[in-house]
Amino acid sequence: MGTEGLIRVGAYLSVLVIMATWELLAPRRPLTASKLCRWGGNLTIVILNTVIARLFFMGGVVAVAAMGQERGWGLLNWVEGPVWLEFGLAVVALDFIIYCQHQVFHLVPILWRFHMMHHSDLDLDVSSGVRFHPVEIVISTVVKAAAVLALGVAPLAVVTFEIVLNATALFNHSNVQMPVSLDRVLRWFVVTPDMHRIHHSVDVRETNSNYGFNVPWWDRLFGTYQAQPAAGHDGMTIGLNGFMDIRYARFWRMILNPLEKG
Ligand SMILES: [Zn+2]
Ligand SMILES: [Zn+2]
Repeated sequence: MGTEGLIRVGAYLSVLVIMATWELLAPRRPLTASKLCRWGGNLTIVILNTVIARLFFMGGVVAVAAMGQERGWGLLNWVEGPVWLEFGLAVVALDFIIYCQHQVFHLVPILWRFHMMHHSDLDLDVSSGVRFHPVEIVISTVVKAAAVLALGVAPLAVVTFEIVLNATALFNHSNVQMPVSLDRVLRWFVVTPDMHRIHHSVDVRETNSNYGFNVPWWDRLFGTYQAQPAAGHDGMTIGLNGFMDIRYARFWRMILNPLEKG
């Protein structure tokens, strides 16, 4: 594994351990389903997704970025500007694309079938942040690679974006208690756990809100922002109607989730 890989894995595991400890010491909501069962399924999925990413996308999006840069492809390679500005623009633009992609996964029925698995988790904690169907991961990787080529994103900006996206996904899925005042300030810069939890509500109007993963700006800008759940954070139900059963936390039920009636 190269330096880039080591940094990515190191950052990922550090955030995972910090959030898992935080939610154990100061949980936001009591868990309703067996943690052992959910973590068994969710962590098996992340191992499978990592293996798929390694086998089929060796070096993946970063290699695509390097190729694009070498050949001078993409928007940012055609304009002259300070590196820091190009870097910032690239990270924000990639985040916008992920926001759009998330909405498309909710809107297009066949894609929703694959995204359902993420929403069928009965509780929300740090392990939910890695619970994505392998097909969604593959589609998302291809979309990211195409975006990186079209935008001309530098390899270092891709690595930064991936590290930040993984860290924020772990952070905003975690079941952590934090002062309301801190949440209110953080919400202007990053999607907080209280904000993303609303996206996991069984109430469809709430499911179709707060699509952002990194920055909360897109939801506020495009009218998909919902500040609080109607039933409150303690009263709301997490999950997906038709899948309110712990058996959907089993590995094979998760893989076959797109074929379920729901
Ligand atoms: Zn979603
Ligand atoms: Zn989520």
